[in-house]
Amino acid sequence: MLKLVVTVMATLPVRSAPARSLELIDSAARAMDIDRARRVYVNRNLRLDQIELVGFDMDYTLALYNQPRIEDLSIRATLLKLVSGKGYPSDIRELQCDAALALRGIVVDRVHGNIFKPDRYGYTTRALHGRLPIDKAKLSELYHRDRMRLSNRRYAWIDSLFALPEAVIYASLVTYFDRAPPDVPRPPYAQLWEDIRECIDMAHRDGSIKTVVSADLPGFIERDPALAETLHKLRSSGKRLFLLTNSAWDYTNPVMSYLLDGVLSAYPSWRNYFDIVVVSAGKPEFFTEERSFVDLDAEGLPLVKSSDGPFGRGRIYSAGNIKEFQARTRTSGDKVLFVGDHIYGDMLRSRKSSSWRTAMVLQELEHEIENHDRMAAQLGRLDGLDHQLTHLDSELNERQTVMRSLQRLSTEELDGTGEAYRNAAKRKVKEDIDRLRVELRETISRHKALESEIDAAFNPHWGPLFREGYEISKFGEQVEAYACVYTSRVSNFRFYSPMQYFRGPRDRMPHER
Ligand SMILES: [Mg+2]
Repeated sequence: MLKLVVTVMATLPVRSAPARSLELIDSAARAMDIDRARRVYVNRNLRLDQIELVGFDMDYTLALYNQPRIEDLSIRATLLKLVSGKGYPSDIRELQCDAALALRGIVVDRVHGNIFKPDRYGYTTRALHGRLPIDKAKLSELYHRDRMRLSNRRYAWIDSLFALPEAVIYASLVTYFDRAPPDVPRPPYAQLWEDIRECIDMAHRDGSIKTVVSADLPGFIERDPALAETLHKLRSSGKRLFLLTNSAWDYTNPVMSYLLDGVLSAYPSWRNYFDIVVVSAGKPEFFTEERSFVDLDAEGLPLVKSSDGPFGRGRIYSAGNIKEFQARTRTSGDKVLFVGDHIYGDMLRSRKSSSWRTAMVLQELEHEIENHDRMAAQLGRLDGLDHQLTHLDSELNERQTVMRSLQRLSTEELDGTGEAYRNAAKRKVKEDIDRLRVELRETISRHKALESEIDAAFNPHWGPLFREGYEISKFGEQVEAYACVYTSRVSNFRFYSPMQYFRGPRDRMPHER
């Protein structure tokens, strides 16, 4: 019946309000059939019908980059600057860098030249020195003896796709200098990190990277054909949209034009989708400081006098702060949904300093889910081995306890028959212990091999993005804590009604599961 009504309404010449509502109902009805890689996942309940303003970050959120290409460009530009600006050996320009060395959620130990992946408790079971694995003894000495404080200046947390190249260059150069002949001057590991940071920032600031990207947008940025329809769907439910990007106007304008201009006839320019446009926003300071908004002219140059009062549609603003933003839009924080890709700049600061709701775009999610599905049989076998290990452990413990009590029985307390009985029991228990030990060793080695096989399918050095061994990775924990919902791309929202009630799974303590 509903389908019939929807069909009838869709054929009406003018899309009246009831027709629009029925379209929304129709799209909500399909929500359960969405491909897992394209779903919106919920950490904390979010009612879209309560949201009045939806804001978007640009880079890695609306604009999804071709990650291998942008990484290669950043790496080459940075190596070049290390040679020309810092006097590094010229042959590093040709250095082969393995992009898989970095993953969101890894941590650089700038004192020791290491990278490691912590779990939600900051505990790590794998680390690299440069490009090479660190053995267990060294790992314990460095990272297990004291409580790990990731906020310590010694550590740099890699939490955005934007920051991956820094870690790749660091790991590659640590090994390069470790293996260099003794006459090659080598910077201390901490200095090497500072130099890389400085050069990559410079490559971004002086346009070395953006000029190349701007000259070949189709080569570097994926133009998602469903993005326009998604934004339109949100707008048609009465929500206002805004853009809040750290990029400057001269880069934002061509990128946004490439993504959206002319895709839908009702929106000739990308500007038509957005009620408010803020560039050079300086997040995370946008959320924590009180810088004023600056009005820009059509060329992106600051106007002498800045406006106040409600934001004007079709105007361009830069800088600003969240307090003034909310006052000028006359919206309370809980009516704003902000969609971004960066834990610290977009999610953490907005969650900590305001009541903005957050949606996180995790480009890697499609790859993670694909791998998860591909390895489903292996993951099932791993669960089986986990149970088997628990069972073998407890059987072995039980036998060892029996053995200890048999050994405690002194010969004086036993007569001849008792002693013969005790010795026979000891032999039997010893046989069991030996058998269980062999079985345990074999199971552990099968478990290890299977775990390595699964990890390698995700990332050869680090395994899955959201897990570390038995635990959720530190990165996974942060996504859980700061993103109300998360998904692989903005256009996934088109599968849901703009009135959707995103419900999270009921949180349970281990004893309630
Ligand atoms: Mg971004």
